[in-house]
Amino acid sequence: MANWALIGASRIAEGHMIKAIRSVPGHEIVSVLSAHQARGREFAARNGIAHSTTDLDTVLSDSDIDVVYVSTTNDLHFSQAMAAIEAGKHVLCEKPLAMTLDDAVQMVRAAEARGVVLATNHHLRNAGSHLAIRDLVARGRIGRVLSARVFHAVHLPEALQGWRIDNPAAGGGAILDITVHDADTIRFHLGEDPAEAVAISASSGMGQGVEDSVMSVWSMPSGATVFAHESFTHRFAGTGIELHGTEGSIVARNVMTQRPVGEVRLQDPEGRRVVPFSDHNLYVRGVSAFAEALNGQGAPAASGVDGVKSLAVALAVREAAQSGRRIAIGYGGL
Ligand code: NDP
Repeated sequence: MANWALIGASRIAEGHMIKAIRSVPGHEIVSVLSAHQARGREFAARNGIAHSTTDLDTVLSDSDIDVVYVSTTNDLHFSQAMAAIEAGKHVLCEKPLAMTLDDAVQMVRAAEARGVVLATNHHLRNAGSHLAIRDLVARGRIGRVLSARVFHAVHLPEALQGWRIDNPAAGGGAILDITVHDADTIRFHLGEDPAEAVAISASSGMGQGVEDSVMSVWSMPSGATVFAHESFTHRFAGTGIELHGTEGSIVARNVMTQRPVGEVRLQDPEGRRVVPFSDHNLYVRGVSAFAEALNGQGAPAASGVDGVKSLAVALAVREAAQSGRRIAIGYGGL
């Protein structure tokens, strides 16, 4: 049983998360916070949410609210999540957790000190496709991983071309939007944290004051190398991930997505075959794991620490692109 408040009347909340939260028995959404009173009211009415407010304290002082889901623009995550943690609420926060590594680390430390669950909404590690890939890697089916390639260059739908493409202060840009997901996915598959990054970013037709495309290469402690490509401007590139090992390769297509689709193939000396995977809803699985963690059973799919680490990689990629240097990635002591 848990009552949730939505911090942010966002598209991701309306498009995916409200349904996911309500899919868990005993979990209900009782309030939504929006900076805009009329929008908040309409959002609440449209989605059958009893209350809307423009005042964060109204949400946080409500003892009936156990959990907040933070899905405002990226610049607001830190202050809103910190206030919620300090008020003793559990927090499921959108990626990137914060705009700086120090802020994200502070969120993790504060949640630990207050004894609340902090999780990051990295959806990809909940996908059946990625769970199948990780299982193959963990069982040694491709041997020692030599390299990975992530293809995550998409065309940002017009409806999302707001703050993401023209507002660096709100946390816009392809790196904070997409590279964080790819960093989390690579960490999930390889079970290690990238050590260094080099990168080149570009504004290739959509970004105004922020990058809309980036290619980066990361070194891993094991010696593996990772190539990652993220963009808002690629209409026809398709997405995918490849992991190449000493004993085999995994080639997955159309899997860097919010939907339970795509194809995973394993190639090894026995030939090439399609790997079956579950087609469950990614966000439902994420919220279910979070709900179990609230009950003391297991951990969220992506923890606060995972959110810190994906942000650390993204910030290093951005610094590498801006400076032209090879950047050692620090994880704020976590
Ligand atoms: P939106 O642009 O839909 O919402 C962000 C904020 O913008 C809202 O909180 C809202 O403010 C304001 N807003 C939204 N629509 C309007 C409008 N029509 N007019 C005026 N203001 C508006 O963002 P997204 O849902 O795309 O992203 C929100 C967060 O979720 C980001 O941090 C993003 O990175 C993350 N995200 C994560 C995904 C995942 O799969 N994990 C997928 C998509 C996004 P207010 O609340 O004050 O009304």
